[in-house]
Amino acid sequence: MDFVESDSLAQFRTAAREWADEHVDPGWVELEHATGTHHNPDLHALLGRQGLLGAGWPAAYGGTDVDPGLALAVFQEIGARGLRMDGWVTTEMVARTILAVATEEARQAIVPAALRGEVVIVLGYTEPGSGSDVAAARMRAVRDGDEWVVNGSKMFTSTAHVATHVFLLARTNTEVAKHRGLTLFLARLDAPGVEVQPVHTLGGQRTNATFYSDVRVPDAMRIGDVDGGWGVMRVALVHERGTAPAPGGPTLVQRVAAWARHAPGDDGGVLFDDPAVQEELARLAVDDEVSRLLALKVRWVASTGGMPGIEGSMAKLWSSEAEQRRGAVLTDLLGEQALLRVEHGTGRGSGGAPLDGAVEWAYRKAPVSTIYGGTSEVQREIVAERRLGLPRSRPAG
Ligand SMILES: Cc1cc2nc3c(=O)[nH]c(=O)nc-3n(C[C@H](O)[C@H](O)[C@H](O)COP(=O)(O)OP(=O)(O)OC[C@H]3O[C@@H](n4cnc5c(N)ncnc54)[C@H](O)[C@@H]3O)c2cc1C
Repeated sequence: MDFVESDSLAQFRTAAREWADEHVDPGWVELEHATGTHHNPDLHALLGRQGLLGAGWPAAYGGTDVDPGLALAVFQEIGARGLRMDGWVTTEMVARTILAVATEEARQAIVPAALRGEVVIVLGYTEPGSGSDVAAARMRAVRDGDEWVVNGSKMFTSTAHVATHVFLLARTNTEVAKHRGLTLFLARLDAPGVEVQPVHTLGGQRTNATFYSDVRVPDAMRIGDVDGGWGVMRVALVHERGTAPAPGGPTLVQRVAAWARHAPGDDGGVLFDDPAVQEELARLAVDDEVSRLLALKVRWVASTGGMPGIEGSMAKLWSSEAEQRRGAVLTDLLGEQALLRVEHGTGRGSGGAPLDGAVEWAYRKAPVSTIYGGTSEVQREIVAERRLGLPRSRPAG
């Protein structure tokens, strides 16, 4: 791998900042915190209308002539302003999977509309009784002519309350080994029989439980072969773990370091003068750098035509565990000030929280990072088995 960084995005930074100055409503961050919804429909629709979502995609499927470098710089600038684009992350992941495995009819029906920002797709894999062991899904899909009838429930269907479609993993065959009887479908969330209920998490994010009762999905919206869902999932999971965003603005560690240069220390100086504080911050900066390089490696593998499966697992494992270390260390460093909480959108909160409560929030939201997208234990198994060649830790099947 070539570690010399391209400065190709540098030429887009000013345009990206100007774009965000003009279009990003400063109230959106407050709204995101208040609702726990990591997706802004207005922003998403705007990005679609302006061709930014379609940058770099094939013209035959709605790709635009917007420079992909500009689009990436805009996405990074949006991230640097504290906004999440989870609805686009999952839509992009599924759209790429559709291009790889679906029929031409499904590609044309979905991908151009997704790139115009008219379709937002979320992931419906996890169920109340199956998460890591995703192949144990019990949701049933039974064929009825040109349609499928879907029954069951999904857990943690994040962003479903502001999305148009859900990528559903369902059991279509109960007579074969569990991973051989699965099929993926793209179901409309406004279809009769779909119910979305909120689930609020410790970190403030809202996710959902979703319920499906005799929901009809046209066979044209089956993604991949009947009973071929396991292969489709493998493609989709590679895209999930391979989409780590590149860093945009200053990191939390850099922000805390800047704060510590002014925060009073024990002996009349500033906190940053303490060598122990400097060492902790340096360790966290190294963690961040390793995360950044692993994410770059994922991109590099993907951009040179490879499937960054193991690299994605390595990056996800490291960066999510680093996020938890960071939350704990920075909380220690801020001391009791780290308990001051900002309650966005409520008019309440502790007041005077350093860095607008960013450390308190980072600590609270870190635990989920090693759960969603596959837990650390599962990522370790993937690396152990596929990269290190260690024996399987559980029976196949
Ligand atoms: C905030 C949030 C958002 C999410 N968003 C989505 C979403 O949009 N769509 C979606 O489909 N899912 C989503 N998920 C679900 C997520 O992918 C699952 O929670 C995750 O895969 C773990 O599954 P589980 O919760 O059923 O835990 P389990 O699989 O029951 O795991 C429980 C514990 O056992 C361990 N374990 C399980 N299997 C093994 C093994 N083979 N070896 C060693 N240890 C093991 C796990 O590591 C974990 O510590 C989300 C989860 C959260 C918390």
